[in-house]
Amino acid sequence: MERITEQEVLQALKNREMQVYYQPQYDTLTKSIKGAEALVRWFKPDGTLVMPGSYIPMLEETTAILELDWYMTERVCEFMKRQKEAGFSLIPISINYSRRHVQEEDFTEKLCEIVDRYQIPRKLIIVEIMESVLEEKAVEVIALIKKVRESGFSVAIDDFGSGLSSLSFVKDISADILKIDRSLLSGNCEDEKERIVLESIFMFAHRLKLTTVAEGVETEEQLNFLKTCDCKMIQGFLFARPMPESDFINACKENTKEQAGDYFEQIQDTYGALNLLLDAVLTCYPLIIMVNLTRDSYYMMAYENFTTQTCSSTGVFHELIEGGALSMHPEDRELFINVFNRENQLAAIARGEKYVRAITRQLGDDGVYRKVETTNFFVKSPYSEDALAITLSHSLEE
Ligand code: C2E
Ligand code: MG
Ligand code: MG
Repeated sequence: MERITEQEVLQALKNREMQVYYQPQYDTLTKSIKGAEALVRWFKPDGTLVMPGSYIPMLEETTAILELDWYMTERVCEFMKRQKEAGFSLIPISINYSRRHVQEEDFTEKLCEIVDRYQIPRKLIIVEIMESVLEEKAVEVIALIKKVRESGFSVAIDDFGSGLSSLSFVKDISADILKIDRSLLSGNCEDEKERIVLESIFMFAHRLKLTTVAEGVETEEQLNFLKTCDCKMIQGFLFARPMPESDFINACKENTKEQAGDYFEQIQDTYGALNLLLDAVLTCYPLIIMVNLTRDSYYMMAYENFTTQTCSSTGVFHELIEGGALSMHPEDRELFINVFNRENQLAAIARGEKYVRAITRQLGDDGVYRKVETTNFFVKSPYSEDALAITLSHSLEE
């Protein structure tokens, strides 16, 4: 095959030979279309289709890639404007931006200018930046993403897991969306180690409050596994391939027909059900603490509307109890320490007890003592021999 040159691409852009294809992104549970990614498709005058993979790497060596990305931005905004004028409600569209934009000093200003000119809400334009860019120019990329988000756009990290970037980059970057690369889904998630890696990525992404999108989903088996990981959105051939604008409009129309049974699917999905269960438990117990008695550590899962908000959410368990005792009524301190100190709880487990419980008066942040019931249920984890407890605590008074 002949090598494509930068000049050819620039000429093709001038001739408007590049089209935008849209690949819908689906809500994992409801299967409704929640967004789409814009992907370039080059149709030569003789009708041949040139895929991006065959010239984008070359283009990235030059500044011509910037032209392509801005061309795509214009076309996407133009499309969204037409949709808006036709009375359709808009959904977010992701646009790919090459690493080269990091060097463009006025990237954000330029993006604002185009998007505002078409009167598209900025929030609906998602700036996709590849993970590999983070490896190269971490400081610059972090600053750029910050500026882009502060201007009201959303940011997605593309192809996460395909490169070597460390998880700490993701921590430092205030992105909105993490797109998990399809290389992590190889096979049908049958390999246990592969599943563990994926589960951990989703767990950490969700704890960092990132919306997760799995890319390249091709099979029902992959989909089912992604559901158990609580993956938010799916983009892949299983649901839809990238398609021309007219097909995309039809796919969106079809999709707006409300799907019955969504709600039940959410309950039947393990993670959906667990989240609902957690919500239900929280309405009764605003304070839940996971305790590792063996390791003398704790982690507070929830802490809403409790009478006091003063202790830190994770730390050394015996310090939590000592600090907690000080917030009790002086007459209840001895009881509290007796029941909940680490040694006594370990002894209770050794005696075969299932839980320990105490009712004490606790000083709230408003200076009022309230009766609080605290129960430590002893539990076992299949993964370790450690003595674990779950603390459920609630106020007995309003
Ligand atoms: P990407 O941004 O990661 O886009 C997703 C790619 O995965 C697309 O390839 C899409 O067709 C493909 N894909 C989606 N679902 C599946 C699936 O289930 N199985 C398989 N095997 N593939 C799937 P495409 O369109 O060939 O684009 C390749 C790459 O080219 C894109 O990867 C992106 O990095 C780049 N690209 C495309 N359009 C643009 C653009 O306008 N600007 C820039 N800078 N890069 C672009
Ligand atoms: Mg992309
Ligand atoms: Mg990708």
